[in-house]
Amino acid sequence: MYETGSRSWLVNTEARALARGQDILVRHGGVVTRCAAPGVRPFVAALLDRAVDGRIDIDPSEISEGQSSQFETLMSQLVAAGLFIEGSPPAGSEAQDLDPVVLGLWQRSGGSVERAEIHARLRDRPIRLVGSGRLHAELNQSLTDAGVVIGRDDDITAPAVVVGSHEQDPVLTEWNAERLSEDLEVPWLAVVAFNGGQATVGPWVVPGQSACYECYLLRKASNFGTAEISSALAEAEPVGPVFDSSTRYPGLRLIQTGLVVDKVVERLGLQERAGQTVPGELSTISLRFDSIDLENHRVLRVPRCERCSPSAGIGYPQVWFAKEAHK
Ligand SMILES: [Zn+2]
Repeated sequence: MYETGSRSWLVNTEARALARGQDILVRHGGVVTRCAAPGVRPFVAALLDRAVDGRIDIDPSEISEGQSSQFETLMSQLVAAGLFIEGSPPAGSEAQDLDPVVLGLWQRSGGSVERAEIHARLRDRPIRLVGSGRLHAELNQSLTDAGVVIGRDDDITAPAVVVGSHEQDPVLTEWNAERLSEDLEVPWLAVVAFNGGQATVGPWVVPGQSACYECYLLRKASNFGTAEISSALAEAEPVGPVFDSSTRYPGLRLIQTGLVVDKVVERLGLQERAGQTVPGELSTISLRFDSIDLENHRVLRVPRCERCSPSAGIGYPQVWFAKEAHK
């Protein structure tokens, strides 16, 4: 498809070209940029007309020598305004330029991670998807559709998404214990189906660095409104099987699936530049009487956590102490 020497541009689907008189206004998010160079309106119209699947290929021999500098000036203005994105150099670049997920991540990173790099990461870095039930099946489908490679369960270096049917599901607590015992620091995302009040995506656990899953359970129990129930909950154990509740609210399940897909795709493609998967990060989707609310939280480590804290049960200085201890 590529001819030697041809150049390409991609139409930025997030930007809109509007004409006003002979000028072009490029609206990109909340920003409008005016391009007022002579002939810009027919130039943009002609370029957009020849775009195929959002891509414009131009053979430099089509442009006469006299027009060349004018062409470059107009194109650089339109690229700066955000209407077009410069295509990658030809060799093997088509896949990364044609993959909208790669382009979306590249734009989200402000262009700070190369498109070729994002494309390679999505293709070469599998994740593990652990659990069962309808939410798990939907995540499998949606992550695959987004271009994420679901790897083998025994690939111990692959980050994981672990789906529990309730928050004390052994699939989550056992995964947490096993990862902490490994010293590999392979991160994982806990996902718990809707429990009648909330569905959760997170915390993003980095073993040994962030709050572990038991830390999260301790904090969750201690946040319960009634002190008496709160202490009882912290010590309570699950009884009997819990059935898949994710089938009851298909709309919430889709929102939850969307959040997981976005976080995983961002993490795989942008790695340390991903904003949503910082250690301990947690999102909750809450069903209210008149709305669905999405909130983000950070779960901090719990010094008394017997699973991950080196100072649990011994007299080291703690990062938290009771108010009375200050007297
Ligand atoms: Zn812990």
